Amino acid sequence: MTTPQPLPLVDLKSLLPEELRALVRQLGQEEYRAGQLLSWIHGKGVEQVDQMSDLSRAFREQLKGVAWVSRLREVQRQVSPGDQAVKFLFELPTGERVESVLIIDGKRRTACLSSQVGCPLDCQFCATGRMGFLRNLSAAQITDQLLQLSRTLLAERGERMTNVVMMGMGEPLLNYEELVRALRLMRLEHGPAIGGRKVTVSTAGYVPGILRLAREDLNLGLAISLNATTDELRDEIMPINRKYPIAELLAAAAEYFSLRGRRVTFEYVLMAGVTDSDEDALRLADLTRGVPCKINLIPYNELGEGTPFRRPLSERVARFRQTLEAHTPMAVTLRESRGRDIAAACGQLYQAQERRRRSARAAG
Ligand code: SAH
Repeated sequence: MTTPQPLPLVDLKSLLPEELRALVRQLGQEEYRAGQLLSWIHGKGVEQVDQMSDLSRAFREQLKGVAWVSRLREVQRQVSPGDQAVKFLFELPTGERVESVLIIDGKRRTACLSSQVGCPLDCQFCATGRMGFLRNLSAAQITDQLLQLSRTLLAERGERMTNVVMMGMGEPLLNYEELVRALRLMRLEHGPAIGGRKVTVSTAGYVPGILRLAREDLNLGLAISLNATTDELRDEIMPINRKYPIAELLAAAAEYFSLRGRRVTFEYVLMAGVTDSDEDALRLADLTRGVPCKINLIPYNELGEGTPFRRPLSERVARFRQTLEAHTPMAVTLRESRGRDIAAACGQLYQAQERRRRSARAAG
């Protein structure tokens, strides 16, 4: 005889307005209750149903029978000496950890969020790639990073978050459903209300995901991590290129522009002796000629001893930029590595923590 399993509780933080309205109706309540729930969860940051004081006690009891509200546990926070970046390490109920970064830059307040624990793409230069893939984050877990960073920003500086970039751990387009759901939650007026032009999704080049995103009504910014100018090198340092080579990636970028009317940003990481030659700069100008775009140069963040890639000297970076600018009509920017002092490249805080956890276990 099998005992009936209790139904799993639904995480209210993951539900879109129409889904919440349906749930509220099922529970025999009026639809406007859905708006109250959205304000508690995405606006006020309340996770305890019992604290939602404008809901009747009976309704709260009913809700607790079918639903809960998840929350990531903050386990570490690191502030960069210049105060330009605050890095957060969060723990999932399953024990894995992800990181998010709050970046202070002029008037901009940007939340850099993770989409997966680890990443399956195995880019050779990336700290997250070295972890392998552990799991996808739920929409609630993606959104919650923004909620928690925003709350900290408001409490400590009295400021509001202005931008979101999906440039933390993971490949967002390989967690497509949860990503898009999270981006729809973030732009709700009940919550952080960040959407459209203020959100950038960064991809290592998963072409089917780019083509699908181009057809969403979200009007997001798209960043593509190009990082190499020949298929030969890109195959080696970004294995996804073997499936979706540069020509296909550029065609997808052009399609994104034609459907969405938004310039794509190509990110290009400068690694000494690997991607930073004058020939690379010329090829980069050539490759991107057909796609209305911006080009963002990122000097490599070294991962530490025993890892092969190095940051070029600043003279080489400047020369690369000059050469590129002389040959492209596109806007070129150089990302000064904010928070390099707190190991800001994705996955690096996680790695440092894991090393400490491992050595603590070995010692204990
Ligand atoms: N998977 C997505 C988003 C995460 S990586 C993507 O690939 O775009 C975000 C950016 O950081 C990418 O442009 C990636 O090329 C870059 N990056 C990864 N490791 C880096 C490092 N050690 N130093 C500098 N940039 C790095």
